[in-house]
Amino acid sequence: MIRSFMTEYSIGLDLGGTNLRAAAIDRKGNMLASVAGKTAYSAGREAIVGEMAEAIASLRHEIGAPGLDGIGVAVPGFIALEKGVILNCNNISSLENFPIRDELSARLNAPVILENDANAAALGEKWIGAGKDFEDLIMLTLGTGVGGGIITHGKVLRGYLGMAGELGHITVVPNGNPCGCGNRGCVEKHASATAVTAMAKLLGLGDALTSKEVYDLAVAGNEKARTIFEAQGEALGITLATLINAFNFPLYLIAGGVIAAWDLFAPAMLAETRRRSFTFRTTDTRIEPAQLGNQAGLYGAAYLPWSEI
Ligand SMILES: [Zn+2]
Repeated sequence: MIRSFMTEYSIGLDLGGTNLRAAAIDRKGNMLASVAGKTAYSAGREAIVGEMAEAIASLRHEIGAPGLDGIGVAVPGFIALEKGVILNCNNISSLENFPIRDELSARLNAPVILENDANAAALGEKWIGAGKDFEDLIMLTLGTGVGGGIITHGKVLRGYLGMAGELGHITVVPNGNPCGCGNRGCVEKHASATAVTAMAKLLGLGDALTSKEVYDLAVAGNEKARTIFEAQGEALGITLATLINAFNFPLYLIAGGVIAAWDLFAPAMLAETRRRSFTFRTTDTRIEPAQLGNQAGLYGAAYLPWSEI
């Protein structure tokens, strides 16, 4: 039987910090169905890849194959998109150097578009979030690291190997904290949520504070805690000024749980950006918080098949 009303939709999967989430999302951004994975990443590659394929297949079965426009998958780490391989991934090392795109595609008998999770998050915000009125934007996602995504002409800027947008590794302190990438003083070592808690430890505020607890201390008037967010703001400002000077995009978004502390780090961030960027000082260039929270990557992954048209 031919269905008279076929829903045009896409399936997105985001391999997040602790587990995977997948959703069937229609062309307008309505979430039709979603699933969350339960597999611990420590369970190994076969368990993870198996759960990814199952999640996508179950959504395709639920909504129906005829309306499916494509499948987008967002994964963390340095990714060689041309080859569909994760080169380096601190969170899920079992997936490194494994042809994950082709493996998923073979199991699903359908093409799969792979993307870096921070790029996907930026694309999600461009589609239906804080960047929906813009064709060109850059997003920095502050979490355990700092993820970066560059959207231009409505699409992810990928570079010749698909490794563009690794903005978390821009140097903000020439001989600063060592980073897993081999550099020192990367912005992710000075402005991520992890950096906030590391600074709190260094300043003797506590060994195991969460960034939320550091935030609460700062709000309560603790001077040391306040300087942490100022340092975070300065590191972000240096990064943003560099990006604004290079790209002249109209919008720069900051995402991640720490944007709850926006009022604490934004003044230093904006002052530093003004100091270092003539363009920012003299134009209506905007720096704003993102809107989709931890759903951005999921929406961006689902939008991948349509963004490539
Ligand atoms: Zn680095």
